[in-house]
Amino acid sequence: MNSPPTRSVALARLEAFVPLAAKYAGHRNFDLGVGKHTGVSSLSPYIRTRLVTEEEATRAVLARHSPSAAEKFLQEIAWRTYWKGWLEMRPEAWSHYLATLAEQEKSAAYGNAIAGETGIGCFDHWVRELLDTGYLHNHARMWFASIWVFTLKLPWQLGADFFLRHLLDGDPAANTLSWRWVAGLHTPGKHYLARAENIAKFTLGRFNPAGQLDEKSQAIPLDQIFTRQALHLPQNPKPQGRIGHLMFPEDLAMSPEDLGEIHATAAYLPASHQTSSLVTEFLNGAISSTLTERSGTRLGESFHSALNDWISAEKLDSIVISRPTVGFTRDFLTNQTLPPITHIFIRSWDRLLWPHATAGFFKLKEALPKIHASLAPQREGDLFPHL
Ligand SMILES: Cc1cc2nc3c(=O)[nH]c(=O)nc-3n(C[C@H](O)[C@H](O)[C@H](O)COP(=O)(O)OP(=O)(O)OC[C@H]3O[C@@H](n4cnc5c(N)ncnc54)[C@H](O)[C@@H]3O)c2cc1C
Repeated sequence: MNSPPTRSVALARLEAFVPLAAKYAGHRNFDLGVGKHTGVSSLSPYIRTRLVTEEEATRAVLARHSPSAAEKFLQEIAWRTYWKGWLEMRPEAWSHYLATLAEQEKSAAYGNAIAGETGIGCFDHWVRELLDTGYLHNHARMWFASIWVFTLKLPWQLGADFFLRHLLDGDPAANTLSWRWVAGLHTPGKHYLARAENIAKFTLGRFNPAGQLDEKSQAIPLDQIFTRQALHLPQNPKPQGRIGHLMFPEDLAMSPEDLGEIHATAAYLPASHQTSSLVTEFLNGAISSTLTERSGTRLGESFHSALNDWISAEKLDSIVISRPTVGFTRDFLTNQTLPPITHIFIRSWDRLLWPHATAGFFKLKEALPKIHASLAPQREGDLFPHL
């Protein structure tokens, strides 16, 4: 997948997909191979960095279709926010993943798996697709994770880490919790078993690993139950004076208008985890293109001194940061002492959806019609000005 990391490419991709959103339900499960992922939007690297936001994608679809016609696509967008909200209330699921990842042995079988040398044709193909493009279709991710856990009997944590390092959309919440879901750890008693017949059907016969998969495996034993913490969603701040917007690659969208006029923009890419060169290039590109658009400043590696230099050069009185969600950016910021002029804001989309992520997705799904109805109506031309 060729994914130039700019907002204009993100918007063009969204605009091209919107007319197809009503057909999504019928097409979304087919993985037709590299360059042919036409039944899905391939928007995830852009949504993951918020070069285009979940709210913008939702509004663009609602400007063209009724909520019922595009229901499935609207729900999938909400899945991303659901995972984030769920993890916000159970940050321990992330720290537990990191701690248990560090304990896993990288066996020869693991080496074969990540080299795409297992002898299971579809799996080896998806390894190469992931390494070459940074993307896998959702169904391929499910089959891949299932084969990893139940056929190859490898620790799910190593698979999740492999994805997180190579997916352009690699996201601590969606990735960790999807791997846990496949393994049967998210919904105890329910695990996802890849079946050869299903793979043959939804790859239109490109693959048929008949006899190669463990299609009867039990779920892996439950490791830990994470206690749900209260979700604190304080009111957004009212920053004073000259305001600077500091961004991290998990949220490169504009700050909400009610925070006031932004005088300066800066961005920082924490060297938090080892990503592939494709991912690093994508994130660097996403930051650069965003800063070019807003005449912003890239903070150099030494975070503290670069931040202080930027504050002085721009004579800032306040800094605003979009709430860092559980994951690498939050971990990075937890270890920093931020200047007292720093304020955290929460996007209204997250504020609306996260409280419904206390348990299974069903609760959020039930709330979606009201949430969609509460969004101010928009015309397609509001997002795509040439229309
Ligand atoms: C094991 C596993 C690991 C995954 N890891 C990630 C990850 O690291 N980052 C990530 O963004 N998604 C992840 N997903 C979810 C999903 O596979 C991708 O979001 C989707 O394939 C992205 O492709 P798309 O943009 O073409 O999706 P579309 O089908 O076009 O969906 C539109 C948007 O909805 C959201 N979305 C769709 N399905 C899901 C889902 N199941 N969970 C969360 N959001 C969804 C994405 O933002 C996506 O861009 C994972 C799924 C599995 C099974």
